[in-house]
Amino acid sequence: MRNKARVSAEDCAACGCCVKVCPRAAITVPHGVCAVVDADRCVGCGKCVRECPASIISLEAAEA
Ligand code: SF4
Ligand code: SF4
Repeated sequence: MRNKARVSAEDCAACGCCVKVCPRAAITVPHGVCAVVDADRCVGCGKCVRECPASIISLEAAEA
């Protein structure tokens, strides 16, 4: 088990702040609508969680 980032989609402002700080390029904002995390790339570092101005990214336990 390891932590993975999860975005609360309904509140995402699509600002892109999380995309810029992710060291694994695990986050994209398809069509400028809402951030999406690629769980296969995410290493659970938490940088995006700290960066999101809307505080809508959380780390959750997920199957490795
Ligand atoms: S927790 Fe780290 S690796 Fe995972 S999406 Fe956020 S910044 Fe990227
Ligand atoms: S930093 Fe937060 S509000 Fe901005 S795109 Fe990422 S999840 Fe959405």
